[in-house]
Amino acid sequence: MLELSTSIKFVKRVGERVAEGLARRGVETVEDLLYHLPFRYEDRLNPVLMSELVAGTMSSVIGEVRGSVLLTTRGGPLFEMTVGQGLTSLKCMWFNGTYLKDKFKLGQMVALYGKLEASRSSAGRFKMIQPQFEILPAPGTTGPDAEFAMLEMGRIVPIYESLGGTTPWGAKLTSKWTRRVMWSVFEELTEGNIEAQETLPSALRQRLAMPGRMQALRSIHFPEAGTPMVELMSAATSGHRRLIFEELFYLELGLELKRRRMREREGTAFVTDATVRQAIKQVLPFHPTTAQKRVLGEIVSDMRQPQPMRRLLQGDVGSGKTIVAMQAALVAIENGYQAALMAPTEILATQHYLSARKLLAEVLSPRTGKPYRVTLLTGSLDEAMKREARGRIYRGETDLAIGTHALIEDKVDFDNLGLVIVDEQHRFGVQQRFKLMKKPGALDPDVLVMTATPIPRTLALTLYGDLDVSVIDELPPGRTPIVTRQTSDQRAEEVWAFVRKQVGLGRQAYLVYPVIEGAKDDQPELDFAHDVERIEASATVKPKRVSKKVAAKPKQAKLPTPKQELRSATAMFDELRNGALAGLRLGLLHGRLSSDDKEVTMNRFKRGEIDVLIATTVIEVGVDVPNASVMVIEHAERFGLAQMHQLRGRVGRGAAKSFCILMTGPRVSEQAEARLEAMVRTQNGFELAELDLQQRGPGEFFGTRQAGMPEFRVANLLRDRALLELAKLEAARFALEPDPAISKVESDAVWSRLRHQWQRRYGLVEA
Ligand code: ADP
Ligand code: MG
Repeated sequence: MLELSTSIKFVKRVGERVAEGLARRGVETVEDLLYHLPFRYEDRLNPVLMSELVAGTMSSVIGEVRGSVLLTTRGGPLFEMTVGQGLTSLKCMWFNGTYLKDKFKLGQMVALYGKLEASRSSAGRFKMIQPQFEILPAPGTTGPDAEFAMLEMGRIVPIYESLGGTTPWGAKLTSKWTRRVMWSVFEELTEGNIEAQETLPSALRQRLAMPGRMQALRSIHFPEAGTPMVELMSAATSGHRRLIFEELFYLELGLELKRRRMREREGTAFVTDATVRQAIKQVLPFHPTTAQKRVLGEIVSDMRQPQPMRRLLQGDVGSGKTIVAMQAALVAIENGYQAALMAPTEILATQHYLSARKLLAEVLSPRTGKPYRVTLLTGSLDEAMKREARGRIYRGETDLAIGTHALIEDKVDFDNLGLVIVDEQHRFGVQQRFKLMKKPGALDPDVLVMTATPIPRTLALTLYGDLDVSVIDELPPGRTPIVTRQTSDQRAEEVWAFVRKQVGLGRQAYLVYPVIEGAKDDQPELDFAHDVERIEASATVKPKRVSKKVAAKPKQAKLPTPKQELRSATAMFDELRNGALAGLRLGLLHGRLSSDDKEVTMNRFKRGEIDVLIATTVIEVGVDVPNASVMVIEHAERFGLAQMHQLRGRVGRGAAKSFCILMTGPRVSEQAEARLEAMVRTQNGFELAELDLQQRGPGEFFGTRQAGMPEFRVANLLRDRALLELAKLEAARFALEPDPAISKVESDAVWSRLRHQWQRRYGLVEA
């Protein structure tokens, strides 16, 4: 008898071997399978009439096979089929379609799904290229298939993403297969009278008018006739909403619990008396903005509490987070504690180190009457120096330790760590973030996490649900907006002339390239480019027109994917040095240089000894050279939005008018065009983040695993923001002022479920 917890291998049609494949996709039990939801539906009860089709839309069509032919073209074998409905018909084409040769029979009914394109051929007004198809059962089918015929026809049919893998006889696990397995499971569960255990208190469910869990699942897999297609397709049926809500409710409840636990932990209550205030005032090189003052106030008020601080400081690039962090560090130091500042790259750590030294050089600590002691610890220091640095940290001879992840390596012990600052948090994994917080010692250090990723607030509350959020929403005064232009690399000469002119005016420029050298392999800077490629690959591919002429020898056929020649940092450094930018002082910076070389180059650029820095995205984060006023990005079509925004943030830091020039190669996809257009239109990080989020989806946007973003089974943070708000509200209510209508048994069940299942899944378990 099936139960929800039954291993999937005992399900009819699955078995041992298929189960192994499914396990790789995280489907191990009947329950897991039930949560593999259809990603779209076809209404085969009321199919669209061909005469009502609209070109350019994704459509599902049912029709009868009227003829097919396998053509040999220069592009390879092409299978064409005409599908008719009454007097109208539609042409379908599949490249490399040899395998389809004997698949269809005249008169057979087929369901097709694909993008409709207008066609001028005699075969009809429309065509579909590479549509998905299913052959529909003939009326009066007999044999083993008869039982399932009604799953394919005359109803709203769920379409599943393949779970990968194959059946024991090598067939793909198609949507049809999934449907049959799913149907049998529901049959057996009904027979056995097995109900999915309810996970939401009934009073809550009733108040929100949400169906029971089993009912929700059933209605999503096999919707009743008449369920509005729009609701199904947008996951907005009451069944969908119920499952999404459940998932988000437990997430929010977990975060609530975590915040509660944090409040119970013991941290240091720093004091901020006159001496401390004097200390943080005397280092200020300028008047802080109102926003800087406000967030410092929020941070300091946390630091005074006996609970450990967990705060996220959000501020767009150039908003001046560093000085706020330094001030917070001084509060800890003036209380006799150590502070640690962790940066994601060596360049950035070194930069922080140098600016901390500069900031603190002229002043003495009011508490000790001595200068502040700052130590740099990065992975590239030689062993002796590292040992030396670790010793100073351990013996308490350092007030402020600045470094990369070398700082959280196990060998580093602090004497008396009071505050941890993590810069550009999105570059770190959550695990790393937690590691420094957990240094041995009696008390938890305070933690301040800084990020320039402008995350929409509702999402920030989830991603960083255990943190309080402060936002610097104002740039320091005197910034002039950055003039952003898009241009083709055909006009490179004009761009170089412009760069020359700016250098002539005493300014400096960055030229950024997507790759270090010609080849793309093994170039860490390219990680993002793969992302972009992946995203665009999943967008619709427009295949070239395939000639119908019969070629003498059919070649190995492929969809055309022309390799794009990329201009690289190294090649352009040589080219420009001897060409358009000859006579200027050029520098080259990329991830393959040794740390020493990187540092030397960066420092020369800072000191103004290099006019034009030719680089990869190693300069993306945090680098601060106010005199640099020109940012040229080549192959801008290959960069993600967040990245371009970060890069542009490297200029416009001084008083001079700044420019960002986005140069594009020959092929710019629609999505890339939208990104570039947005960059030209706005400098508002939040606006850009919204578009980025839409283009990439939350998983990619946050770098799911790396950022520690929970993986959802049903919910989609972008689509379900309203339900997220509701879940947050209800979770807080459940935790803080339980509804008297919810019985103790029910609420205990919720807490226990949270502990046993959800915390692990969302990585909310204390590390
Ligand atoms: P980010 O938030 O991107 O880390 P930074 O802290 O690097 O920004 O600051 C950007 C630049 O603005 C730096 O050159 C910094 O010295 C300068 N800056 C920061 N705050 C102010 C201010 N209140 N007035 C003038 N300049 C400021
Ligand atoms: Mg910064």
